[in-house]
Amino acid sequence: MGKLDFIREELENLKKEGLYIIIRTIESPQGAWIVVDGKKVLNLCSNNYLGFANHPVLREKAKEAIEKFGVGPAAVRTIAGTMSLHNELERKLAEFKGAEATISFQSGFNANLATIPALVGREDAIFSDELNHASIIDGSRLSRATIIRYNHNDPEDLEKKLREEGGKYRRKLVVTDGVFSMDGDIAPLPEIAEIAAKYDAIMMVDDAHGEGVLGRGGRGIVDHFGLHGKVDVEVGTLSKAFGVVGGYVAGSKEMIEYLRQKARPFLFSSAVTPPDVAASIAAVDILTESDELVQKLWDNAKYFKENMKKLGFDTGKSQTPITPVMLGEAKVAQEFSKRLFDEGIFAQAIGYPTVPRGKARIRVMISATHSKEDLDFALEKFEKVGKELGVI
Ligand SMILES: *Cc1c(COP(=O)(O)O)cnc(C)c1O
Repeated sequence: MGKLDFIREELENLKKEGLYIIIRTIESPQGAWIVVDGKKVLNLCSNNYLGFANHPVLREKAKEAIEKFGVGPAAVRTIAGTMSLHNELERKLAEFKGAEATISFQSGFNANLATIPALVGREDAIFSDELNHASIIDGSRLSRATIIRYNHNDPEDLEKKLREEGGKYRRKLVVTDGVFSMDGDIAPLPEIAEIAAKYDAIMMVDDAHGEGVLGRGGRGIVDHFGLHGKVDVEVGTLSKAFGVVGGYVAGSKEMIEYLRQKARPFLFSSAVTPPDVAASIAAVDILTESDELVQKLWDNAKYFKENMKKLGFDTGKSQTPITPVMLGEAKVAQEFSKRLFDEGIFAQAIGYPTVPRGKARIRVMISATHSKEDLDFALEKFEKVGKELGVI
């Protein structure tokens, strides 16, 4: 046995189980139609909810930023990497979110890795929804706090666990995704925040898929439920609806000041580049001025979901533009995705470990860039392949 034989075995196992991820290459800008491995296809699987990834204003602002600031920050934020652009982004994001302050990070993933270990440690406990995103799980592990999982979107179970276990710890953190990315359901945040307050726990929500989607003009889940001031930490990403790359935390002035001193990816990993930051600022500006794109996104999502249901597909319990098409076994989902691709549709299959075994699906991401004709084309092809594979 060679010391690296496990790698080949593991790769073979993944292939046998239909869990081997086929990584496609995109050869065009993001948008409704993209070129994938040389083929022009309708894009139903990117997080480009509002079309910002290739928006003309964002492109222009990114170019201007390169002219003015160059391409790299050349330092971490706390040494020499904080440019005026970073400060402008953080100020505008805070205004947009209706929060006192924000701190930006290199990604949403990093925002969680940064924040959770800064807030809790060995003597503390994290009460975490069982379906929380991998970056929350990794941030929690990194903190060395005790992790107590509560049933998905179940405030009663959360309360029971806080009541029974909460007393043993110095500090308590309750953390949940705002929108769950694989099912598209929304956390019952008013109930969760009320329970967290009752048990004196820090309340944190990761709104990666709610940003630019939920709330007035896409201001996110806290705005959606009118919970301003009742959520201590709101994590957001600039990589999904905002179309660029980066993450951030919104909260009180003191919370953000504290994270600037303590968050390790802020202290030890270089800042986001000038063109990225400038493009993110442009996205915030556009959303601050108009909710037109957010409206279009929701119109498209409703139209697609209603018609998929009419065709007999199981779209799970989605309450957002994320539309899972439930297919059961990973192999069926992979075959479905392959057939769709032949028909000119790019919609990736998602299986274990991203979703539980036996709950494989194709996750359709609707965006504001899709036209009615695009959606009708997608519905026609889903119907064709669905009938062919005996799914409907
Ligand atoms: C996508 C996602 C992230 C990661 O965001 P990036 O900016 O892509 O790193 C974090 N949390 C949740 C809930 C997400 O869906």
